[in-house]
Amino acid sequence: MNNLLSVENLSVAYGAGAPAVSRVSFAVGEGSVVALLGANGAGKSSIMKAVSGLMPSTGAVLFNDEDIGSLPARARVAKGIVYVPEGREIVGELTVRENLVLGGYQKAASERKRRIEMVLDLFPEIAEKADRQAWRLSGGEQQMLAIGRGLAADPKLLLLDEPSLGLAPLLVRRVFDRLATIRAESELAIVLVEQNLAVTMRLCDELHFLRGGRIVGHRSAEELKDETARQEAIDAYLGAA
Ligand code: ATP
Repeated sequence: MNNLLSVENLSVAYGAGAPAVSRVSFAVGEGSVVALLGANGAGKSSIMKAVSGLMPSTGAVLFNDEDIGSLPARARVAKGIVYVPEGREIVGELTVRENLVLGGYQKAASERKRRIEMVLDLFPEIAEKADRQAWRLSGGEQQMLAIGRGLAADPKLLLLDEPSLGLAPLLVRRVFDRLATIRAESELAIVLVEQNLAVTMRLCDELHFLRGGRIVGHRSAEELKDETARQEAIDAYLGAA
């Protein structure tokens, strides 16, 4: 399998103090799902922002073997790297459909229309409310809209930052089931940031555990199917810092 994304020795610093991310390296194969797990402050969002071009970083970010580390965020979107931020950041005053149009703004009108119809087919919950202002949606529907807006951009790599955050377990399951459908039906690769191991395992192929801005462990989803191995990973990597 070819690597779609390679992150090599990535570091991110916000100021003079300890870096938020220190020399992190990982790769994402075409069509695969890689999870970054860790507690609050472990550096997960900073990695996503650096890969999407929203945050300066050192080290290398390669996409299809091309060094994209100095490209601005919009050029990375054009290449197919699309970030769905934590907290969703949809535009509440705009309608559901208008939010989706924003997601596909770099696409030609006909392609954008096709992508939006695909998103509305995938998420019937928000299709019913396509002409309603986005702030009126429930938390789960807003998360579907945020993911849908990302999909409207026709990504090759979707960077999903804590899609389970603030959602009731039933809705988390629904969102992840829908992500599994997208996975099964397309060649889309995903980097998934999560704190929740159980839901993450339903979707991903590989997991990297982060603490204090560093990758401290790595497992395949296959390895973690074993309950003892899973508990050991939780104790080793996701327990108290
Ligand atoms: P969370 O799930 O809480 O977002 P995270 O694993 O995504 O956690 P980051 O948000 O990447 O972690 O934060 C990593 C470190 O960088 C933390 O120590 C955090 O305090 C710091 N940090 C994040 N954003 C900023 C910022 N804008 N200015 C200064 N420091 C920041």
